Amino acid sequence: MLVRNSPLIKRISAIAFVIVCLTSILSWELISNAWTQYNKAQDNITQFSDFYQVLNVSNKLAEERGFANQLIFSSGNNRKAARAAFHKSQSLTDQALKKIPDEILSSTMLQNTLSHLLRGRADVEQYVAGPRDNASGAQVAVDSMMEATEYFHNILFIRTESFIKMEPSALGAILQGQALGGLRNSTGKLGSYFLYYLNTGQPLTEQQLEKISKEWARIEIQWWLLGAQTDEVKDSADFRELMLKTRHKFQNKGAALVQLLQAQSENREPYSISVEDFSIRYQNSLSTFNDLLHMYLSDVHRYYSKEKKSALNHLVMTLVTLFLVYALALVAVIYIHSGVVKPLMKINLRVKSMGIDEEELPHKTQICEIKALETTLNKLEEHIDEKRMLSDELKLLAEKDALTGVLNRRGFEMRAKQLLEQKDSEAPAWLILLDIDHFKHINDTWGHPAGDKVLSSLGKALQQVAMEDWIVARVGGEEFAIMFRMADKQDVLHYAWLLQMTCKNLRVAAESGMEIRFTASFGVASAYHCGLPAMMSEADKALYRSKKAGRDRISGFDSQA
Ligand code: GH3
Ligand code: MG
Ligand code: MG
Repeated sequence: MLVRNSPLIKRISAIAFVIVCLTSILSWELISNAWTQYNKAQDNITQFSDFYQVLNVSNKLAEERGFANQLIFSSGNNRKAARAAFHKSQSLTDQALKKIPDEILSSTMLQNTLSHLLRGRADVEQYVAGPRDNASGAQVAVDSMMEATEYFHNILFIRTESFIKMEPSALGAILQGQALGGLRNSTGKLGSYFLYYLNTGQPLTEQQLEKISKEWARIEIQWWLLGAQTDEVKDSADFRELMLKTRHKFQNKGAALVQLLQAQSENREPYSISVEDFSIRYQNSLSTFNDLLHMYLSDVHRYYSKEKKSALNHLVMTLVTLFLVYALALVAVIYIHSGVVKPLMKINLRVKSMGIDEEELPHKTQICEIKALETTLNKLEEHIDEKRMLSDELKLLAEKDALTGVLNRRGFEMRAKQLLEQKDSEAPAWLILLDIDHFKHINDTWGHPAGDKVLSSLGKALQQVAMEDWIVARVGGEEFAIMFRMADKQDVLHYAWLLQMTCKNLRVAAESGMEIRFTASFGVASAYHCGLPAMMSEADKALYRSKKAGRDRISGFDSQA
């Protein structure tokens, strides 16, 4: 109840709240960056998987075109196997086509792709069913398959363009993927350019040579693009190795073959290889392109999965840190609440209960607890000071004789004990007991008030004679004690005489205008560190001797050393 309304806890809670808010604002950018990174990586994984499906179809089509060429130019014994390979390749192409998501390949595009492809396949079948020596018919079938692959290859270009627009940061990897599809298409096409001429035994025309040279240039650019150091595959040694292997295989087999044929054509020599052999061997030289495409996607997938994981770690770390800040702020408030404010307020209450008027203190809601406690303590200090002064005064009063102004018996005993306990003093302690002679007679003669006046006058006179550190006390009705330390006995004797003279010379005015005069008897005792009772007893005996010897005299010196 008390703490709930605590201004200190309210302020600390407000500070903790501000810290939490500032930390949240500062962390917001970190969290949103990590979240964006995470989503982007996830997005790239999906986009590249879709892109792979398009590339895969492009490869499968190029492969199918190769198998179509093999079938077109197969001889009697090989035709059956070539047809089986062609059909198998067709079903692989169809499967790959089905895997392309609808949003990537519109139904129109799919329809067009399929109609081109079916026409190509039909032309191939039609040629194979017809007579063998129909070179132009073979070329129609070859071109028809070429058209089908070209149509899809244009789709690949369009898709690449939209993919780059969507993921500009992945430009390198996208172009690499595109180069992979382009390479498979271009290398396949390059081989196809030779088929008609090999089949007819004619040399390559200028126009065909130009096409071949353009395809070579395209192939070179694509190899160059594929070898670029993109983030996605730059750390993959396997990809580089397989790419070099693929390139060498093509270079040493397929490319070497077409270069040989080109040279033979230029030299007008007969071709050293049949079209059937060429189509088989050329197709074989491109066999690892599929593996390369697959590895490319695996590497890209691995790369973006790693990115996703690190973004997720970053996100989790930021959230955990933020949570810890919140928890620490809460713990700090709770700790201050229970460990500081509560005890503080309890102390405050206890201090207040030590006698401070609530009205003297400022209202607790106006100041915080620590200030409140400080104010309360200040007030308490003032109270304690006042009480100490009062207590000192009371103590003094309790030790003083009201009538004479000198110490009373209690005060005397306390001071006398302190004096006797002083171990550092070499001088002995002296006690002089003084008893007014025939005081009863004074009372009887002049009245009790006059007796009082005598007592009070004597008290003042004794204090005047005594030095500052002497103890002067009234120890009985008309009996006084003077105690001090003094080294020289003669000096003590002198002072005792001075006291005797003081009494003798004191004149106290009585009511009748007469002067009261009196004498006193003295008993002296001294001691080196001996107890007070022994000293008192000795001085008392000496006083008794003085009385006995006739009064107005000093006794006790004779027995002193
Ligand atoms: P001695 O010479 O033997 O001492 O004779 P004394 O009369 O002085 O001694 P005694 O003991 O017979 O009498 C002391 C008197 O002192 C008795 C008492 O009434 C008186 N007295 C004691 N205290 C006070 C006081 O405070 N005021 C007055 N006026 N008289 C007091
Ligand atoms: Mg007496
Ligand atoms: Mg007396």
